Amino acid sequence: MKTFDFVIVGSGLTGATMARLLTDLDHRVLVLERRDHIGGNVADRLHSSGIRVGLYGPHYFRTSSDALWSFVNRFARFHPFEAEVRSRVRGRLENWPVGAGYIRRTVGADWSPEFRGVPRNFEEAALSMMPRSIYEDFVRGYTEKQWGAPATALSAALAGRFDVREDDDPRLTPTRKHQGVPADGYTALVENMLSGIPYELNCDYLRMRTVFTARKALIFTGSIDAYYGFQFGALAYRAQKRSTDYHADVEFVQPCVQVNEPDPAVFHIRTIEWKHLLPEAQRRRVRGTVLTRETPCSVASAEETPEYPFPDAANKTLYQRYRELAAQEPTTLICGRLGEYRYYDMDQAIARAQALVRQLLETQPWAAKRPSRLMPAGA
Ligand SMILES: Cc1cc2nc3c(=O)[nH]c(=O)nc-3n(C[C@H](O)[C@H](O)[C@H](O)COP(=O)(O)OP(=O)(O)OC[C@H]3O[C@@H](n4cnc5c(N)ncnc54)[C@H](O)[C@@H]3O)c2cc1C
Repeated sequence: MKTFDFVIVGSGLTGATMARLLTDLDHRVLVLERRDHIGGNVADRLHSSGIRVGLYGPHYFRTSSDALWSFVNRFARFHPFEAEVRSRVRGRLENWPVGAGYIRRTVGADWSPEFRGVPRNFEEAALSMMPRSIYEDFVRGYTEKQWGAPATALSAALAGRFDVREDDDPRLTPTRKHQGVPADGYTALVENMLSGIPYELNCDYLRMRTVFTARKALIFTGSIDAYYGFQFGALAYRAQKRSTDYHADVEFVQPCVQVNEPDPAVFHIRTIEWKHLLPEAQRRRVRGTVLTRETPCSVASAEETPEYPFPDAANKTLYQRYRELAAQEPTTLICGRLGEYRYYDMDQAIARAQALVRQLLETQPWAAKRPSRLMPAGA
């Protein structure tokens, strides 16, 4: 039996942040990771061309918090990067999110929303923002491919992830103060976060529960339904199948990092051209380009590679049943995007992990009077 103050299951940003903060406060921490690499969903690898490729999709880091930006900069040098995305509509690449100027050119200036009031589903929410023809061209096909379900069956809250760009700004998230990507990639960032902290790869905690014990708390950042043996049933996730190709004799294939395919007749949903994420000088030194095509799929259970929690009422209710079980285990903390069954951007996942450590320090008997000098302020 191996005993530590904290056993942290999962080496993604949530687990790594908590491991770092607790270690800096002199607790003994062990991290367990069932995959053969650290980093969770943000893991990447260097292609032989010198282009860095995300294993589980592209990750654009952005935050408006100075404290959070300074925290991540402890572990990586970031180079500036502001993502731009285009959608292929009627054979042309148009800005995504859609610009008000595009709507004026194609629909006219005096359109009024087809839906008003409190939206009951995603389609109603989208139709309160844009004319139907724009919704059909840019949004419906993409969303229904992404989720494998009619837009009317999806939560209205999903529409909160995009807007209509009144100023036609082509950047994906222009209002975020700090934006970039780690110059040596996200795996290196997580490696630096875990510096000096023991971790074990290829170790599925759920198959080895009796081997590892925690004196203070078990922190589990895997799927909550898997933790409880799927006793109420499996939570639904969508994921993506990815196919990656190297094109040796092409400089660039697309004008920006991400091209979306909202046309329902096109099987894949988006193409990522990784070279755009490199700093300008590095791009010039690289020969060829690497493209990844992503095609959404369902995962049978959290044993596979779950990516997006399914946004509907049935899964929300099922998650709540598991959360009630978790509330009965005071020395186990089930958290992170899989543990809390919700989509967190990277900055939100890190901020949440920081808040959970702060909460542990404030509420646990062993933590009484512990100094919190090393906690990042105000993040
Ligand atoms: C396709 C996609 C694109 C994204 N793009 C962006 C973006 O551009 N910008 C942005 O800010 N955010 C983005 N995100 C969100 C980002 O990926 C998450 O915020 C982040 O990965 C959350 O980290 P986490 O540690 O909570 O979860 P994870 O990274 O999933 O880490 C959980 C870890 O636990 C491990 N684990 C699970 N079960 C066990 C077990 N039983 N035993 C041992 N280990 C276990 C897993 O293998 C995994 O390594 C994206 C998410 C997705 C799905």
